Amino acid sequence: MNNPMQGYAARLHDRAAFDTVLEVDRVSLEYRTAQRVVRATHEVSFEIDRADRFVLLGPSGCGKSTLLKAVAGFIEPVGGRILLDGQAVRGPGPDRIVVFQEFDQLPPWKTVRQNVMFPLLASRTVGRREAEQRALHYLDKVGLAAFADAYPHTLSGGMKARVAIARALAMQPRILLMDEPFAALDALTRRKMQQELIDLWDDVRFTVLFVTHSIEEALVVGNRILLLSPHPGRVRAEIDSHAFGLHSLGGATFQQAAQRIHRLLFDETDAVHPQAQARPRPVPSQARAS
Ligand code: ADP
Ligand code: MG
Repeated sequence: MNNPMQGYAARLHDRAAFDTVLEVDRVSLEYRTAQRVVRATHEVSFEIDRADRFVLLGPSGCGKSTLLKAVAGFIEPVGGRILLDGQAVRGPGPDRIVVFQEFDQLPPWKTVRQNVMFPLLASRTVGRREAEQRALHYLDKVGLAAFADAYPHTLSGGMKARVAIARALAMQPRILLMDEPFAALDALTRRKMQQELIDLWDDVRFTVLFVTHSIEEALVVGNRILLLSPHPGRVRAEIDSHAFGLHSLGGATFQQAAQRIHRLLFDETDAVHPQAQARPRPVPSQARAS
């Protein structure tokens, strides 16, 4: 594994060296039906830099999926703004690709290779030749080169997840958006996919916004975690989690960090950083102190 400390130290010493890819600035999101208005998030702010593994963590219903859909361009904020590379997001685009939880979204009549090529061709991002090359390149990255001509129904859940990730990465988006991508998998496969995602990130260095309601998954997958309060989602704190991975599961520092996040998420009496609302700042974790 590469040394994550190096990247983090560089971040602290030279923030300017890190491009901000995504800026979410005091974003409020609502659903309006004939009967009522549901506020999903309230003035949520965060920034994602290039090659961040940025996790949105919060209880079910706190607006994580809604935030992701807003970043993807499917929902327009009622307040605040969303900037990608400094440009306001207006609708969906090939620079933001979403990986959902349901992998049965892979059309069953297309082979794995055709499935990965499809968005590249449909969006006219590249021609057929280049699409095929990219498809094989990213299938190789996720360890599925040998399955390029297989059909989705012959694959396990974990393999379908890897196809969905290859398909998203082949688009070479500015940011990959993942909404609880491993939630439908069994526990062991889920662990395995978390590790594969980190390994893939070590290799490709994509930028990812990853949504989960699992504290453990957030600590394992993320280098930064934004904690959202229960409905409507507001920023509780930001946690630096770059030091954690599957290797730290069960360790004392990991447990402490998990307990601390649990308190920040659910304990109303826990003092919230006064600036967390306006501008989230990293909260020093036990791991960083040691
Ligand atoms: P999460 O992904 O964190 O579980 P969601 O973003 O799905 O939360 O939902 C946030 C809030 O918005 C919830 O209270 C949910 O009930 C509400 N909500 C989600 N989708 C819709 C919709 N299509 N219409 C009305 N309310 C919705
Ligand atoms: Mg959700």
